[in-house]
Amino acid sequence: MSTLSPQTIHRDLAKDDLIVIGGAGGFIAGSLARYFHDLGFTRIRAVDRKPLPEWYQRVPGVECLCLDLSEQANCERAVEGAVEVYNLAADMGGMGFIERFRVACLRSILINTHMVEAAWRAGARRYFYSSSACAYNTLLQQDPDVRALKESDAYPAMAERGYGWEKLMSEMFCQEYTAERGFETHIARFHNIFGPNGTWFGGREKAPAAMCRKVLEAKDSGDFQIEIWGDGSQTRSFCYIDDCTLGIDAIMHCPELIATPINLGSHELISINDLVTMVEQIGGVELTRHYDLDAPKGVAGRNSDNTFIKQVLGWEPHTPLRVGMEKTYAWISEQYADRKAGKRVVTD
Ligand code: NAD
Repeated sequence: MSTLSPQTIHRDLAKDDLIVIGGAGGFIAGSLARYFHDLGFTRIRAVDRKPLPEWYQRVPGVECLCLDLSEQANCERAVEGAVEVYNLAADMGGMGFIERFRVACLRSILINTHMVEAAWRAGARRYFYSSSACAYNTLLQQDPDVRALKESDAYPAMAERGYGWEKLMSEMFCQEYTAERGFETHIARFHNIFGPNGTWFGGREKAPAAMCRKVLEAKDSGDFQIEIWGDGSQTRSFCYIDDCTLGIDAIMHCPELIATPINLGSHELISINDLVTMVEQIGGVELTRHYDLDAPKGVAGRNSDNTFIKQVLGWEPHTPLRVGMEKTYAWISEQYADRKAGKRVVTD
């Protein structure tokens, strides 16, 4: 099942074709720039609105531009000469952020609207859009014992307020650019991507990174307690970053996946309580749990149905959660120590 590798993907790209990646000062797009760089692509343009010193990763040899991609002129500048465009720029974060800042999330629609138009006008060969499991109908996610979401579950639409509706509308933009203008677009619906080089404190971090930080804080302070948002019974699946970058590459270069949204997520379902237990085991501690029932907790349950991706790519994200969490915990421990020592670290 997991025979897919960077070497088996059929890309019609020359090594010096220009690849443009939006949002590359952040977690996934930064990792994607590194992924293509490590494969030997020599012209990668990374774009983000954050000032360069705040980028999570800087990949040697990659052109870095600081541009706000919600502005049309900046998108035109960003995609000049591009053969492929990957749009992963969005104002986003974990539940704490997307439930509180719906306007900011909705305004990300400007980014994709201008980027897809600019990419099409610039004559790019293809375009990738990073959608989300938050595009799915929330009425199907009211039980922790959830049925995994398949691609057709986005409609009839009742997406997550703000963030989810922006994703659904931007997907539609991509699909109509293909239908009406013949522009090749590809869309992946990510399900909770995690791993090293993501945000781990400051308000935009997601559950896996937040758990690692909280366990480290408890160990460091000697106050062996942890606060959990909700009652901890909510379930999720989490997809490791290396599976995500490989999946993006495969989805972008699959002719059967033009303008066809597809899940990119793990189907290893876990409750937040069990995730805490996992991180406690990795950190070698046991903590007293406190539940904040008023904190943002999102839908009751969400999992990725991988039937379609297995059928079309013969592959699905398969890094075991425990393996990914051990790597993430190790990276956050280093970050934690660096921050304590006053060194620059990844933040939001
Ligand atoms: P991230 O916040 O680490 O990265 C997003 C980047 O986009 C940030 O660096 C931010 O500065 C940049 N950005 C925001 N507005 C911009 C603008 N106007 N112009 C230029 N850059 C701008 O988030 P991420 O986790 O790497 O997510 C990447 C993409 O994947 C996003 O579209 C997100 O919605 C989607 N996604 C992520 C997850 C996940 O679990 N991480 C799940 C579903 C979907």
